[in-house]
Amino acid sequence: MVNKQRLVKTFLDLVKIDSPSGEEEKIAKEVAKRLKALGAKVEFDGYGNVIGKIPGKGEPILLNAHLDTVEPGRNIKPIIDKDRIKSDGTTVLGADPKAGVSIILETLSSLAEDKTSHIPLEIVFTRGEESGLFGALNLDYSKITAKRGVTIDGEEAVHNINISAPGYNRVDVLITGRSAHAGTEPEKGISAIHIASRIISQLKLGRIDHETTANIGIIEGGSAVNAVPERARFRGEVRSRNLKKLEKHTRHFQNVFKQVMAKFPEAKVEIDIQREFNPYLFNKDHRVIIHMSKTLSQLKITPKLVHSGGGTDVNIFHTHGIEAIVVGGCFYNAHTTREYAVISQMVQATQFLQKLVSAKLSS
Ligand SMILES: [Zn+2]
Repeated sequence: MVNKQRLVKTFLDLVKIDSPSGEEEKIAKEVAKRLKALGAKVEFDGYGNVIGKIPGKGEPILLNAHLDTVEPGRNIKPIIDKDRIKSDGTTVLGADPKAGVSIILETLSSLAEDKTSHIPLEIVFTRGEESGLFGALNLDYSKITAKRGVTIDGEEAVHNINISAPGYNRVDVLITGRSAHAGTEPEKGISAIHIASRIISQLKLGRIDHETTANIGIIEGGSAVNAVPERARFRGEVRSRNLKKLEKHTRHFQNVFKQVMAKFPEAKVEIDIQREFNPYLFNKDHRVIIHMSKTLSQLKITPKLVHSGGGTDVNIFHTHGIEAIVVGGCFYNAHTTREYAVISQMVQATQFLQKLVSAKLSS
């Protein structure tokens, strides 16, 4: 049976281990140790992701959460306040992601204790999710056989099922004009800032439609107020849950770059557009969604199917043929010092996961 005290203790222990992105070594060792104690065969891949396997019968499933937190995430002092756990207000709580990690570990404890038969489990704890999904991008997929999975990394309770997430293009533009003294010979210069502003003013930004957004988030350039600026750089993004629209709006960006640059033949532009991840969308009658909804209804929980606006490890899993889905990690106000987790929801999420992997349901 799910043990609430043990679950809370695991959570408190884990959030007290600092693990900002890039510094996950300590937490990785800790969860590896715990996985081993729960009977998993554990290894680290070349990137330092933790992979644990527990054999079972039937079709394997991937259980995933990431290990890194955002800042301020050092020296976290969790405080229990009735059904909630919060930080002391100076740091995040780190329930994103450690509520998910604790829920997975408690699921394994509970399964072992109850001797519940279950499907083969492939537990993957990733590094560097918050800094750019690097753990999932660098995961050694040759070690993974599961074709479906659950990632516990969404806001709200476990009933929050993220059926879609946008694809993402990162845009980085460097414009090089020509510097000149702004007072004595401005006509000899080509202002990179002027060109950048012409481009940005013609880009369609903000909410493009119900599933597409675009933004220029950083601009920098110039060296002195009395010099025609030689260089300007701006960076932004295009997101869409629809791959065609993602590509179309990115083409709009490229067309604007081309048209404006044609007016400044002596200036140079370097454009770097990178697809960070592809979008995904589950139909409501997809077997993974049906399986999850059924499991939730057995626990008398109504599933809430939501569209997510951000990327998670799941976007990367999908490009590797793993139909994983994000569910709520029972935390709120993530990435702020007001972050908190709800204990009763964590218990419920663990019950959900235990039911989901129990062999009776899944075979
Ligand atoms: Zn997260």
